[in-house]
Amino acid sequence: MTANACEPWPFSSPQGIANYEAALRQYPGQAIIDLAALRDNMRHLVEVVGGPKSGTAVMGVVKADAYGHGLVPAALAALAGGATWLGAAQSHEALALRKAGIGLDRCHILTWVYNGLAVPFDELIANDIDISLGSLAGIDALADAARQLGRPARVHIKVDTGFGRNGFTEQGFDTSLRKLVPLAKEGALHIVGLWSHLAVADAPDVPEFVDSTDRQIEHFHDFERRMRAAGIEPEIRHLANTAATLTRPEIHFELTRPGIGLYGYEADPAMGTPQDYALTPAMTLQAQLGTVKDVEDGHGISYGRTYITEGETSTAIVPLGYADGIHRSASGFDERGAKHAVKPGGPVRVMTAAGPELMHVSGRVCMDQFILDLHGSAAHLGIHEGDTVKLFGPGRGEEFAEPTADDWARAADTISYEIFTCLRNRIPRLYLHANEVLGADDLAKLDPASVL
Ligand SMILES: *Cc1c(COP(=O)(O)O)cnc(C)c1O
Repeated sequence: MTANACEPWPFSSPQGIANYEAALRQYPGQAIIDLAALRDNMRHLVEVVGGPKSGTAVMGVVKADAYGHGLVPAALAALAGGATWLGAAQSHEALALRKAGIGLDRCHILTWVYNGLAVPFDELIANDIDISLGSLAGIDALADAARQLGRPARVHIKVDTGFGRNGFTEQGFDTSLRKLVPLAKEGALHIVGLWSHLAVADAPDVPEFVDSTDRQIEHFHDFERRMRAAGIEPEIRHLANTAATLTRPEIHFELTRPGIGLYGYEADPAMGTPQDYALTPAMTLQAQLGTVKDVEDGHGISYGRTYITEGETSTAIVPLGYADGIHRSASGFDERGAKHAVKPGGPVRVMTAAGPELMHVSGRVCMDQFILDLHGSAAHLGIHEGDTVKLFGPGRGEEFAEPTADDWARAADTISYEIFTCLRNRIPRLYLHANEVLGADDLAKLDPASVL
């Protein structure tokens, strides 16, 4: 590593340094995840709902490998921050949490995406996993699994209040209740909860978004009334994602389900920045530069020649590409190369002799790499092959000039959620502050080579 590669990480031990160096030899890009940030974000979300004794619990949503942050480490950090529920869309991830040794004494786990005809209901029930029920297709199989195990399946009734995705509709609800009530009376089902999902992250300045959420809330209350009238009392009602946890206290109910907030981002940049909500982005994506070289004026950069250099300059290879989850839509087109719209590519923080500077993806993102126009001579700028650059991180201050996943989302015309979840597993995930956040038993659940 060269002297200006990057600021040093707060390693916990010589072993942490050795793990870091081994990761750099293994792959030229790394996702570094601060477990203290995850824990503190969860602590904050618990405070937002009124604290641990408020009657509102908080679920850490850890679907999709914890939004790419690593399922088990992120789940453990969420529990350390006061989450008493975990949520995973796919049932295999819910089971993986239990298999990692996260028991019912630590948290309830809810899972909600499955096809009712081919799902391991018996395994889910036996592992104390709560199951969402939003259609009748699997109901008999679920009840049979419960009868055979001799214990009720814990279910949360999912209702479609306007999202148009999973859940019973208002028209179909009476028929559904006629099927559900006898199974609850029989004891095959324990109907624990009533839940639904919101379609828009409220931006307080967009009245139609606020109205649509208001309507969803009304529908939710209608469903609840009908359920009570049928003789089922939902103990746990939950509707709020991150956006509603932060901005809609009237629907915190007994449980809220933040996902993106746990990872340190607001749901929609229109709501403000993570800092506005006292959240800290937990992941930094960095890479070590490949070839750095001087090129002449008018040199085409990457496939399709959508970027042509202006004057003599240097370029540097960032060895991550769309096969790593770097969106091709974050390619950069300049005036000389662009046939249509000129557009800066995704931002990268490069350390120069004069301090950090933002460079941008120049030309098309390739499968395993993309190119930065350094807009000057690498020798003068003090930029070398092997230097560590940051694609995104917590976004520390102007002087630090660090992009965030929101900046990449803007460059790629998507949302931060997709920036994280697209990152492939060939990029090593490394964890900061694991020793501080996790007790010995939990620390032992992490891959020791991933602990910085
Ligand atoms: C993903 C998801 C959440 C979390 O949403 P965020 O916007 O990340 O807070 C909550 N509930 C359900 C059903 C989800 O699928």
